[in-house]
Amino acid sequence: MSALAKNYNRRKISFKKGKGSFIYANNGKKYLDFVQGIAVNSLGHANAYLIKAVNKQSKKLWHVSNAFIIPEGERLAKRLTQKTFADLVMFQNSGAEATEAAIKVARRYFYSIGQPKKNRILCIKNSFHGRTLATIFASGSKKMTEGFGPKVDGFDHFEFGNHKALKKAITNKTAAIMVEPVLGEGGIKVIPDWCLRELRKICNQKKILLILDEVQCGIGRSGKFFAFEHAKVKPDIVPIAKGIGGGFPIGAVLMTKKAASGMTPGTHGSTFGGNPLAMSVGNAVLDQIFKKGFLKNVQKISKYFHSELKKIQKQYSNIIKEVRGVGLLIGLQLHSDQAKFIQKLMDNKLLTIRAGENVIRILPPLTVKKKEINLAIKIIRKVCKEYKFKV
Ligand code: PLP
Repeated sequence: MSALAKNYNRRKISFKKGKGSFIYANNGKKYLDFVQGIAVNSLGHANAYLIKAVNKQSKKLWHVSNAFIIPEGERLAKRLTQKTFADLVMFQNSGAEATEAAIKVARRYFYSIGQPKKNRILCIKNSFHGRTLATIFASGSKKMTEGFGPKVDGFDHFEFGNHKALKKAITNKTAAIMVEPVLGEGGIKVIPDWCLRELRKICNQKKILLILDEVQCGIGRSGKFFAFEHAKVKPDIVPIAKGIGGGFPIGAVLMTKKAASGMTPGTHGSTFGGNPLAMSVGNAVLDQIFKKGFLKNVQKISKYFHSELKKIQKQYSNIIKEVRGVGLLIGLQLHSDQAKFIQKLMDNKLLTIRAGENVIRILPPLTVKKKEINLAIKIIRKVCKEYKFKV
């Protein structure tokens, strides 16, 4: 019997190694891995460049305290600010820590300008920002918060797409609006570009901060470095994680100088966040993602993938309701529960993972090749064909 806690309903499979888009199970089978640790392994499994970076740094220095200057972290922060809206970066180890730190940054900003009562964060109902106490209450999901009371106060909610409710929910206590540009766990729901621009406008008018949670959709997954770049908006605070570490746990909050103005010495910290080993991996990931043509290729290959999936959706519209997403953050929304379909894909050696609203999430590495996409298409089509006979 497993000594692990029962907080996961794990699939009955384990793996011994991976290479690029593929993963090799202990059952002897080779799978096309379009989960990649849930959008974490941005460069696929066992990427040679990342292995080299880890090996090199691991022989020099793993960890020092943030009480000292860490040049690898200075470099990663500098590169992140040079390429984005941000002026300053604060490192953590995970997405939930990054989103929670983003909330702290927003509250502290208003505190530091003499408005401490302006501390509420407005979020989309049933969104996902992590599993810490504050972030589960930020999601507003009953399933995630049930049994974890007392309620962490300070969060208000509006329904996805309900603009009237959003405007109504803003009060003089609202400090920030926090949304995922693409709701990942919630079902790969893309916030339209015009909506993001509208959000920015509302935040400007109300003099509140805009937090865009790019933990899942960021770091090239959408085809641009950040998903919000498609809408050409500038946020104030952006938590990131997942893809920036390529499989190594890294989280960070990116901020404008103004938004970060309350973060003075002693206001936040992390023992592990920003250590030399993690930062060296983060820099190696950026070396690849910032390479000329890398993101263009993500755009090109994802366009192809979407168009092939749409063909399948048209043919099997009785099974697949909608193809969702942007770049390599893709969702297939089924008409019925997706669990059986995901199992069928796995039986055919394609790994995918569920999201809300009957969605099958498809998350290839950003380095995925056309022939691997063709293989996935073939498997999805086959499962649709077999599935059809059973409906
Ligand atoms: N925010 C978003 C948008 C996420 O998708 C996730 C994880 O899936 C998180 C935050 C939490 O990240 P982590 O699981 O690393 O704590």
